[in-house]
Amino acid sequence: MSEILLLGTGNKHKAAELAEILQGLPWEVKCLADFPPVPEPVEDGDTFEDNAILKAVYYGRQFDVCCVADDSGLAVDALGGAPGVYSARYAGEDCTYADNNAKLLRELASTPSEKRSARFICCAALTKRSDETHTETGMVEGRIIDAPRGNMGFGYDPLFVPEGYDLTFAEMSSEEKHRISHRGRAFQALRKYLEAIR
Ligand code: IMP
Repeated sequence: MSEILLLGTGNKHKAAELAEILQGLPWEVKCLADFPPVPEPVEDGDTFEDNAILKAVYYGRQFDVCCVADDSGLAVDALGGAPGVYSARYAGEDCTYADNNAKLLRELASTPSEKRSARFICCAALTKRSDETHTETGMVEGRIIDAPRGNMGFGYDPLFVPEGYDLTFAEMSSEEKHRISHRGRAFQALRKYLEAIR
């Protein structure tokens, strides 16, 4: 009988995307909506890996199942790696994606285009019922442009042009983005691991 694999994210878009990447595996993939509601964990880790493990362990223990979760963000070299683990709340608690993008452009206002290198990072964590954890990290290198372009995707997508491309992530289809994205890469690696251990 296949074992339950819970997608430990309250973000419906992310859950749908992960379910797509992990489909066809010998696991019964479920999302949080399939279980009784529980409060979200406090994401107070210092690294993407700490936060991804914290979320996978938290949701896995709540329902005594294997669980995958991820944590991701943007690291800009000229800002010493900021916004990093604070990517979601860069412009303050309860800020919007537009607030974060506006702050990023303000912080980079005096940085020339050749010094605007950046990367998206995603750590995907799996916890098994033994509390053993396994992580995979995916990255995509690129640069921050000086005005938003495109209206697909979310977050910093309109400001990020991946290396080797002219389009921002917000100008690409989601299939195109996730073929090269940090999250696509981390979860493809996790998929291989999940295949290998069944
Ligand atoms: P989390 O992994 O859902 O906690 O995401 C943290 C934050 O990083 C998001 O709120 C976005 O601001 C940013 N982020 C992570 N992945 C992406 C992406 O693929 N595109 C744009 N922004 C992203």
